[in-house]
Amino acid sequence: MTNKDLANLIFPDIDKDIKYYEEKYKPRDLLEGARVTRFAPSPTGYMHLGGFYQAIIDYVMAKNSNGLFYLRIEDTDTKREVTDAVDLIVESLKHYDIIPDEYEYNGKINGEYGPYFQSERKEIYHTFIKYLIEIGRAYPCFCTKEDLEELRTHQEERKFRTGYYGRYAKCRILPIEKQMELIKEGKEYVIRFKSEGNFDLKFKTDDLVKGTLELSQNDEDFVIMKSSDKLPTYHFAHVVDDYLMHTTHVVRGEEWISSLPKHLELFKAFGFKAPKYVHTPLLVKKDGNSIRKISKRKDPEASMAYYKEYGYPKMAVIEALMTIINSNYEEWHSANPDKKFDEFQYNPKKMSSSGAFFDLDKLDNISRNIISKMTKDEIYDNLLNWCKEYDEDFNHILENDINYSKEVLNIEREKKKPRKDFAHYSDIKNQIWYMFDELYDSHDKNYEWQNINDMNEIKDIVSTYFNSYYNENDDQETWFEKMKKLADLKGYASNMKDYKENPSDYKGNITDIATVLRVAITTYAQSPDLYEILHVLGLERINKRINNLIEGE
Ligand code: GLU
Repeated sequence: MTNKDLANLIFPDIDKDIKYYEEKYKPRDLLEGARVTRFAPSPTGYMHLGGFYQAIIDYVMAKNSNGLFYLRIEDTDTKREVTDAVDLIVESLKHYDIIPDEYEYNGKINGEYGPYFQSERKEIYHTFIKYLIEIGRAYPCFCTKEDLEELRTHQEERKFRTGYYGRYAKCRILPIEKQMELIKEGKEYVIRFKSEGNFDLKFKTDDLVKGTLELSQNDEDFVIMKSSDKLPTYHFAHVVDDYLMHTTHVVRGEEWISSLPKHLELFKAFGFKAPKYVHTPLLVKKDGNSIRKISKRKDPEASMAYYKEYGYPKMAVIEALMTIINSNYEEWHSANPDKKFDEFQYNPKKMSSSGAFFDLDKLDNISRNIISKMTKDEIYDNLLNWCKEYDEDFNHILENDINYSKEVLNIEREKKKPRKDFAHYSDIKNQIWYMFDELYDSHDKNYEWQNINDMNEIKDIVSTYFNSYYNENDDQETWFEKMKKLADLKGYASNMKDYKENPSDYKGNITDIATVLRVAITTYAQSPDLYEILHVLGLERINKRINNLIEGE
């Protein structure tokens, strides 16, 4: 009995060989230096910020080099699979216009190197496993869960390294006849890789982010095919896929570094050239005085859904990630404001190799800037899109009088120094509700009166101003001159210098008057430019508000 007999017994229906697949998935026709990257998530029903950050790196690395970026769904761990999880991945990428060049979605394969779902590649994996068995580098293992637990306890008690290796790998020495006999008897088995490594020996390997790594050789006979569904494990599947799909660069989280020796040994056993590895640092955040990993369990911002629900412009999220992907991105972006983010030349060496610090305040700042640069039409369309999904009432209000809504959004916009108070679309309604009667009428009004807080004085100032001074055709200068006149009339200093010299001669100053008018109209002591606000509101709305205020108790 030979290894070939064993391989045929295990995979009687596999009649293709590795060559067949090498012929089928020929080297890609790309220019020298073009990078082939892939985003290879497991469909868990959750799109993690960390995964998205890797997808951006994949995308930029491919675009930088006229290469390509594909999406591969790693669904061999069927227990974890969640319905619709793949839709979530594809929709998230599409939302940010990170469109893979090759992927499979809704039963449609786009690309020549598919299938792109690992669960559909079983025959390919079996072919490759069959080969390893034939050359004596893989074998069936019949150890039960209990056997393995016992082994673990034995090793732990003696403080030995745990795992299935060396003399503990007892199925590796079973004679082929015995192996075949057990299989024929119907005993359950997994397939393990037969390692030739020595844990006491170190080897060097380059990681594009971390530099040269010195790691122990792998000596574990790790599982490459599970018993239940005969699907391969991640370790095995990605090696075969990255080989056949001609991946040049594997971008993945640094938690995989510890398994790298396994992967490299597999590549070597097949005689394949391993891709280059880009192990990305963990995304971390500040938590009080410490810095910790952004966690799915503790941090809502770990999910990509968070950014969509809050209504961050997509470029804000991308840019916030780009700034942590490469420390010189921000500088490049300010020097090249009109270039697309993927024109930035990503350099893995410029990645922090310890932890990538993701900061929501920073994201807010980036987002404020981006929103401030939008034209009124852009912000209107973006806000409306967001409202369609998350705020139906505001959506109706915004659509009710489109021109008016756009004018409201245009306050302190399309200018050299635009307003920067909106960090995301879900922020906007809370800041401009007073511009819409539909919201104003039903809103609880907490007038933020300041120095002048006597209601009789307030009513007097407001009614005098709007009845005798305010004219909506006035330009800004005239408008302000009139406010000064009102200040003089009511005993407030219209000139700050005079006020500072003799404060006791006055009841207050021009800013107190302006604040009363601002609060009367908006309820807030701080607001964007009052002249613009009044202009956009128009006399009818203003009068209604003023009358209510004056008539109120
Ligand atoms: N499927 C692996 C995961 O979701 C991806 C690792 C890789 O990109 O190779 O963690």
